[in-house]
Amino acid sequence: MVWFKRDLRIEDHAPLLRASQEGTCVCLYVYEPELLAAPDVSATHVAFINGCLAELGEQIEALGGQLVIRRGDIVDVLSDLNRTVGFRRIRSHQETGTEVTYRRDLRVKRWAEEHNIEWIETRQHGVFRGQKDRNGWAAKWNADMSCPQTPALSGLQTISGLASTGILSTAELGLGAPPQTEVQSPGSRAALRTLHEFLHQRGEPYQKAMSSPLEGATACSRLSPYLAYGALSMRQVYQSYQRRAHELRTRKKEGEQGLGTWSRSLSSFNKRLHWNGHFTQRLESDPSIEKRPLVRAFEGIRSEAPNLEHFEAWKEGRTGYPMVDACMRFLNATGWLNFRMRSMLVSFASYHLWLPWQMTGTYLARRFLDYEPGIHYNQLQMQSGVTGINAIRIYAPTKQALDQDPEGTFIRRWVPELENLPLRWLAEPHHIDMIDRHQSGFVPGESYPLPIVEHREAVRAARDRIFAVRRTDEAKAQAQDVLKRHGSRRKRRGRH
Ligand SMILES: Cc1cc2nc3c(=O)[nH]c(=O)nc-3n(C[C@H](O)[C@H](O)[C@H](O)COP(=O)(O)OP(=O)(O)OC[C@H]3O[C@@H](n4cnc5c(N)ncnc54)[C@H](O)[C@@H]3O)c2cc1C
Repeated sequence: MVWFKRDLRIEDHAPLLRASQEGTCVCLYVYEPELLAAPDVSATHVAFINGCLAELGEQIEALGGQLVIRRGDIVDVLSDLNRTVGFRRIRSHQETGTEVTYRRDLRVKRWAEEHNIEWIETRQHGVFRGQKDRNGWAAKWNADMSCPQTPALSGLQTISGLASTGILSTAELGLGAPPQTEVQSPGSRAALRTLHEFLHQRGEPYQKAMSSPLEGATACSRLSPYLAYGALSMRQVYQSYQRRAHELRTRKKEGEQGLGTWSRSLSSFNKRLHWNGHFTQRLESDPSIEKRPLVRAFEGIRSEAPNLEHFEAWKEGRTGYPMVDACMRFLNATGWLNFRMRSMLVSFASYHLWLPWQMTGTYLARRFLDYEPGIHYNQLQMQSGVTGINAIRIYAPTKQALDQDPEGTFIRRWVPELENLPLRWLAEPHHIDMIDRHQSGFVPGESYPLPIVEHREAVRAARDRIFAVRRTDEAKAQAQDVLKRHGSRRKRRGRH
C-alpha cells in the first residue's frame, strides 16, 4: 500500500519505488473529512491538490498502474482495502503537520499494529524524528539532500479493479468554490518548469528583488506550493540548485564575463531552502508551536477580546493603509505573497491591531496556497515577537510602500480606489491636501477608509506591552531554553 499524502509526485518517491520493487501494490490517496474540516484547510488548497492528483493519476497509469482515490476516514478506508485485497505493509512519507494530522497518524499507527501491518514512513524534507536539539542538524540536512534521488520507475503493477471515486470537486467535498482564482498551476510538470525557469531565466535579480511584491512575483522561485504538496521533492530542488551553482562557478573560473548577480542570488536561495527544513524541524521537535508561543511568558497577551472589526478590515484589505490593503488583496486573489510583505501583514495584525497570531494565522493558512505548518507557525511567532530569540521587528506600512513600491504600481493595481491619486499621496491618502482633493475628487474616509489605527500610537503601545513581558526573568530564562533547543547553530545565532 502506497499512501500518498503531501508527496504528490512519482519522481524521487522512495515509498513508491520500494513498493513497486516488492510486487503488486495499491496506490492510494484519501480525501479525509476530518482534515478537510480543519480550520486551516481551504478549497484553494484542495483545488491545487486535485490538479496534482490528476497528473499523478495519469503518470501512474502511464506506468501501467492505477491511482485509487477514496473519501472517508483513513482507518475505515485502510480497513476496507485490507478486507478486499489484504496487504502486509503501508509505505508513505513522514509528515510534519498539525495536531489534526498527527492524531490521524497515531490512529493509523495503532490500527496497523493491531492488524500486524508494517507501516514504513520515509523522510522527505531533511527533517529528523526524535531530534532533541540542533546539534549536527545542518550537516544531516546537507547529507540527506545530497543523497542520490530514487531512480525513476520503469513500470508499476497495481491491483486492478479497485473502486475509486476519482477526483472530487471542492463543491462535492463540501468546500464550495475556491475563493482564489489567479493561483499557480498545479502538478509536477508545472513544478519542474517553474524550477528550471527560476534557475536559468528568472532568478538573477532574486536577491535584490525578493522584497518587492511586484518584482518578487517573478524574481522569486515560486516553488513553495510545489514543495508544500510534494509535487517536487526538496532533494530535487536542492540538487538542481547545486548543479546550476556549480555550472556558474565553472564558467566564472574559466573567465566568462557577464554572469551578473546570479551567484549572489542563488546563494540567497540556497539559504532559504535550508530555512524550510530548519523551521519544519522545529515543529517536528516541538509540535506545541502550532498553538502556543515558544516563550510561554507571552501566552495569552493578545487574547483578551480581539477587535473583530479590525480583523475583518485586515482580512478584506480595508485598513486604510494602502500597502497593507494592496498586499492582502493581492494574496486574496493569487494565494501568494513575498516574504517581506507576509511579514508586514502579520506585523500589522499583531502589533498595530494587537490581534492574536493564532487567529490571523488561521486566516493566512487558508489563503496561502503554499501553507506549510512548520514554516507558517514559526514565522507567525517571529513576526509577532513571541519567540524570545528574534529581534522585535515592527514594519511601518508607509515606509514599506515607499521602499517597495516607489512608483505606486502595485498599490494602484490592487487598490483601484487610489488609481487616480497623485503619487505623493499614495502611501498615506488621508493626508491629501485640499487642492489635490478638489482636483482628484478623492475624499478620505469615503473613497477609501481612513487608517483604522494611528501608526505611532499603536506601535508605541505594542512595544510597551511586548517589552514589559520580554524583560521579565521568566521570559529571559525561557528564551535561553528556546535558543538551546531550537536556535540555529550558525554563527549569527538567533537570527531565524
Ligand atoms: C508569516 C509568514 C508565514 C509564512 N508561511 C509560509 C508557508 O505557510 N509556507 C511556505 O512555504 N512559506 C511560508 N513563509 C515563508 C516565505 O514567505 C515563503 O516561503 C515564500 O514567500 C514562498 O515563495 P517562493 O517559493 O517564491 O520563495 P523563495 O524566496 O523562492 O524561496 C525558495 C523556498 O525556500 C523556502 N523559504 C523561503 N523563505 C523562507 C522562510 N523565511 N522560511 C522558511 N522557508 C523559506 C520555501 O520553501 C520557498 O519555496 C511564510 C512567511 C511569513 C512571514
